[in-house]
Parts: sequence; structure tokens; C-alpha cells
Amino acid sequence: MALGNHFRRRGDVERAIDIHSRLRKVTDVPDSDRARADFELALDFMSAGLYDRAETLFLALKESPSHGKPALQQLLLLYQQQKDWHRAIDCILELRQTMKPKHGETAAHFLCELAEEAMSLHRLKDARDLLSQALEDDPKSVRATLAKGRLEYSKGEYRQSLDSFRSIESQNPVFLAVVLPMIGLCAERLGQERELIEYLDYLYSTYRIVAAAIERADRLSRLQGGQAAIDYLLPILEETPEPHAVAHAIGFLVQDTFLGPSRLQRLYDLLKEGVAGGQKFCCERCGFGSAELYWRCPSCRYWGAIRPTGPFSSLIFIEAEDTPG
Ligand SMILES: [Zn+2]
Repeated sequence: MALGNHFRRRGDVERAIDIHSRLRKVTDVPDSDRARADFELALDFMSAGLYDRAETLFLALKESPSHGKPALQQLLLLYQQQKDWHRAIDCILELRQTMKPKHGETAAHFLCELAEEAMSLHRLKDARDLLSQALEDDPKSVRATLAKGRLEYSKGEYRQSLDSFRSIESQNPVFLAVVLPMIGLCAERLGQERELIEYLDYLYSTYRIVAAAIERADRLSRLQGGQAAIDYLLPILEETPEPHAVAHAIGFLVQDTFLGPSRLQRLYDLLKEGVAGGQKFCCERCGFGSAELYWRCPSCRYWGAIRPTGPFSSLIFIEAEDTPG
């Protein structure tokens, strides 16, 4: 057995399969040894990319007293790899009978995957049910709430949509920065621009969400011009000198002074480019940084570990940690 494992680790999967297959055929061995040979063989199949055969073996091992749980955990990995979310959820349900939760959060991600798939196929009723299930499994699932808000928006239910997006505050206020554009759209549809301004002020003063201040300044610039926007933004920059916001403020200046193809205009364009490509999200576990929000970290493969950070919403991290509860 050890020899077979050694070959698998060295990448010689064929030889590992050969050894473990022969071990299975040996009669007069205790059930636990046979289960172990089956389990190792299934791991060989996984390494060789023979997923069907690995699945068959793991499924047969599910009831084994010694290898049932590890087999189920391997099946869970296998189904995630194949994006077979239905079967992955079944695994979680089975694992949950033997293990403490934390699995609720992962199951919620699988349900969200299924819901997003349903939405892309315009099966909106299914999507809604799946998202409700996801929120039952993990009431703090920002992802499910965000998808629910998008679903409601696409059906023209702007009131519900706005409520969904705003309810992310009770789940994890750090993520409000991500939904600000959607909150803005809902408020416009509902003719609630004034309430929106108040809300943006609230977000900045409560959580120091810089994106909220930028959004507020943008709206001000459209209504009253760039000078008003700068007057609003400058004290905020004194407090939170965040590169995105600084670039934005310079943008108002450039817009107001009609510089044309000047050197200052060129410098501004370069600054904007530099800031735009920056890291907006970061994995709490492995430090992976990205300009995009991933629900599963592409680096450490962990679900739900990526948070908005850095230039996207600089101080909210600190603020959120300082806030009790
Ligand atoms: Zn990571």
C-alpha cells in the first residue's frame, strides 16, 4: 500500500493503480484493509483524471465505517471540480450528519451557483427558490442577497431590489461598496435621488466607505459642476487620502478647467489608468489580490474568503473591525 502511494506521489499513477488494483483482489484481508486499498485506488484515479472510476469507488465506500467520511469529502471535491452543484449539496447534507457546520456557508455557495445558472437560463422562479434555500443555509450569505437583489431588479421590482441590496449592511457592511452602483440604479428608478444622497452620506460617515463618497461627488458634479464636487470631496480626502478618490477629485478639476490635450490632461489619464487596474479585492486566507470579486479564491480554492479592500474601500476594513458585533 505504502509503495503504491509512493508511486502516486511521484506522479507514476499507472504503477500506483496497478499496485492498488492487485491489493484489492487479495482475499482474506479485513474489511478495513480492503476499504483502504479501494480508497487509495480511487485517489489514483483522481490523480489520473479518471473521475468516473474514482466516483464509482468513492460512492461504494460511503458506507464504510473506516473510510466513509474521507470518501464523502473526496466526492465533495470531485463534484466541485466538475461544477456538479446538485451532487455537491447532497454530499454536504450527508457530511452534516457527522460533522459540525461551517458547511452551511459552503452549501450556500453551491446553491448560489445553481441559482446563477438558473438565472442565465431565465428560470427565475427556480433561481428565487434556490436563493431562499441559500439564505436558509447561511443567513449571512452576501452572495445570495446580492443575487436576489439582481433578480428582483431584472423583474422590475425596484423596491424589493433596493431593500435586498441595503440589507447587506446587516450581513457584512464591507460589501456595501460592491453594490453601490446597483443601489444607485434602484434609487433612480424609484425617483429617490434625495434619499440616495442621504444614504451615501450615512455610508461614508458610518463605515468610511470611500466609494460612497465618490458616488456622492459624482452626483454633485452632474447637478452643480465639478467645483461643488471638489468642495465636497476635499475634506474627505484630508481624512482618507485614498488613491481612487484623489484621482476622481483631479478628474473634476480637469473637467472644469477645459485643459484640452495638455500635459496635465495626459498626467490625469495616466493616473486614472494606474488606479483603475489596482487591487480591489483580497483573500483573507492566502492574500491573493484581484481587481475582480471571486466567491471562491482562485489561489487557495477557499469559498467566501475574498473581501473588498485597498483602493476600493480603504478604511471600512478597520471600521468594520472596530464596530462591536
Ligand atoms: Zn485565497
